[in-house]
Amino acid sequence: MIDVDSHNFANLPLMKLSSYHKSIGDIVEMVMPICKYDKVYVSKVFTFTLDIDYEPQADEIVYGGTGYGLENKLPDEIEHIYPDYSLYSEMTKETAYGFLTRGCPRNCKFCIVTQKEGCQSIQVAELGEFWRGQKFITLLDPNLLACINREKILQELIDSKAYINFSQGLDIRLTDKYIAEMLKNIKTKIFHFAWDNPNENLYGQFGDYGKRGCWATGTSWQGSISTNLTVRYIQSSHLIFRRIGNGTGQ
Ligand code: SF4
Repeated sequence: MIDVDSHNFANLPLMKLSSYHKSIGDIVEMVMPICKYDKVYVSKVFTFTLDIDYEPQADEIVYGGTGYGLENKLPDEIEHIYPDYSLYSEMTKETAYGFLTRGCPRNCKFCIVTQKEGCQSIQVAELGEFWRGQKFITLLDPNLLACINREKILQELIDSKAYINFSQGLDIRLTDKYIAEMLKNIKTKIFHFAWDNPNENLYGQFGDYGKRGCWATGTSWQGSISTNLTVRYIQSSHLIFRRIGNGTGQ
């Protein structure tokens, strides 16, 4: 396995591929350039990161991930396998990683999710597919709250009693009082709400839930602009964090 650019987080497709190959009796390891292999998978998440600067020694090389194109998808039997977390044993200590939903209706200009995964947020897995009682769960869902099954999913997350990290953020535009109450019952260190279009006035939505005190005491939440670097820089004077940063509206 070659992980080109996800050095600060565990590469989920590689963990699934590892699991699959181990299940059919193969030996799996991260590639050492001096070694020769039967098959090498090269995974690249981002289009803008540098590629590897050597040719792996292998009978077969498979390039995958969004960094190499939007059509790269794992076959179903591998997509839905329990990941081999031992491939990233340090990063995945007590932590499960996965997608419960894929797709997003927003189709933001700077984002490839809608193009790649479709314009509907659809549940694609049950929690048990990638979680077996770990203390922490990192969700990679692009827009979980846009899914029609969101209440069922949120209840499963509550029932898990695991600490949930919504790593891609939540959509404040799809949060109402009922959803806020459900979120309140989820164990998490922080709620991160994306503010994808800085020209859209969302102060009301952010302030609403903060001022009404919908959030559990001690749980912080943040809004962030996630359009692109230029906009992020220009709009940083929004002082989003000061206005809504601790959920008290202060
Ligand atoms: S940035 Fe977020 S809201 Fe916009 S299309 Fe991507 S996943 Fe959806």
